Amino acid sequence: MSESTAAFLYLVSGVLFILALRGLSHPTTSRQGNFMGMAGMAIAILTTLFLAGPSFGGLLLIILGIAIGGTAGAVIARRIAMTAMPQLVAAFHSLVGLAAVMVAAAALYAPESMGIDAVGAIHGQALVEMSIGVAIGAITFTGSIIAFLKLDGRMSGKPIMLPSRHAINIALGILLVVLVIWFAASESHVLFWLVVLVSLALGVLLIVPIGGADMPVVVSMLNSYSGWAAAGIGFTLQNLALIITGALVGSSGAILSYIMCKGMNRSFISVILGGFGGESGPAGADDLGDRTIKQGSAEDAAYLMANASKVIIVPGYGMAVAQAQHALREMADKLKEEGVEVKYAIHPVAGRMPGHMNVLLAEANVPYDDVFELEDINSEFSQSDVAFVIGANDVTNPAARDDKSSPIYGMPILNVDQAQTCLFIKRSLGSGYAGIDNTLFYKDNTMMLLADAKKMVEDIVKALDR
Ligand code: NDP
Repeated sequence: MSESTAAFLYLVSGVLFILALRGLSHPTTSRQGNFMGMAGMAIAILTTLFLAGPSFGGLLLIILGIAIGGTAGAVIARRIAMTAMPQLVAAFHSLVGLAAVMVAAAALYAPESMGIDAVGAIHGQALVEMSIGVAIGAITFTGSIIAFLKLDGRMSGKPIMLPSRHAINIALGILLVVLVIWFAASESHVLFWLVVLVSLALGVLLIVPIGGADMPVVVSMLNSYSGWAAAGIGFTLQNLALIITGALVGSSGAILSYIMCKGMNRSFISVILGGFGGESGPAGADDLGDRTIKQGSAEDAAYLMANASKVIIVPGYGMAVAQAQHALREMADKLKEEGVEVKYAIHPVAGRMPGHMNVLLAEANVPYDDVFELEDINSEFSQSDVAFVIGANDVTNPAARDDKSSPIYGMPILNVDQAQTCLFIKRSLGSGYAGIDNTLFYKDNTMMLLADAKKMVEDIVKALDR
């Protein structure tokens, strides 16, 4: 295959990736977007294969690699629970980082096979690209592993604050820049591995101090890093597809991080500096002090909602854990049959990954027209009879709006407390992901429905039938 045909096909795959991103931005077009992405990737892989024209043995190795990787990916994707998706994404990002390190090492040890001069005579530009790619790749690798361990609960979600961590990180950052320049000037293999080592350490040190509530931004930031690492390696290999794809992943990850920071009213810098958020810990009855809660039953909830004219449902992480979305849709259908107006309100960081709630509601065939983003529905709570909070917590916490001393002050929340009655399903009075007590539980117009979300909604459906 000629270089120009390959360049054209890479461009086609790049356009397909852009269309895929566009498609993935809405539930109605996301399936189509996925297909576009798959088609783009297939074209890019085949073009690379035909362009390189590997030997029979090489081709066999590539096919074997694709078969093993593809099978592992398919099995994992089939088995993974939706609630474990963020840690899976983090784990996959770590592999992208590791791949960037491996490819750069291969380019260093066998540059002829990649068309970038000979050992000891690799041109300076390729060495700079290689070392930047490898540094970002190694940071992404260990950073993603820490994010995986934190999200998967194998490591404390609390920020781990090392003494003088900022000074250590700055010193390591400066050392890294010096090593990159020195390596680019010398092509020393020892310096290459020193770049890798310092970057691996930086990846750990940068992510360890970041706590629970900021983890979503970290995952999307690492997603962005893995894209830039791929783009860096694309320059080394002079592979257009890798440059385009890496830049797309890098920039879309950065945009997503920005959107999420906005959703949590946090700045990039404060996220990176770390120290915010902890682990949720259920508050026992002893922790109530002189506060009281109003507890209700499924029958109470059914009665209130059947007699309402407008109900807004606010799903959160607990709905995903309980897999209550199907029962929830059944409940909404019944209420609609009774003439109640039912809408769903989605907070940008509800659940454990962007779009988490949208995916679950789509899976339960909730009509897209009933689902609204925070900014489109927040003004409607004050005119609704019932806000039905199902497994959400942090995204409804009025402390974010009213309490200047709260660590989540300034994060936009869904104004569920402004509804006439707020029904709140969860299993205990424990806190959410950010580890902060929710004052909503103790408000006069809140009725706590303490139970597993699916069980409670199923009981409400039964009560509505009576
Ligand atoms: P939260 O984590 O704040 O709260 C979820 C609540 O669900 C818990 O308080 C828990 O209470 C309850 N719950 C858990 N299991 C069940 C169950 N089976 N039945 C009923 N209730 C249950 O969730 P939100 O969606 O409100 O907020 C998301 C949080 O996660 C934010 O802090 C966000 O920053 C963070 N985050 C978001 C990501 C994203 O991209 N969307 C990614 C990673 C983190 P109890 O134990 O008492 O039942």
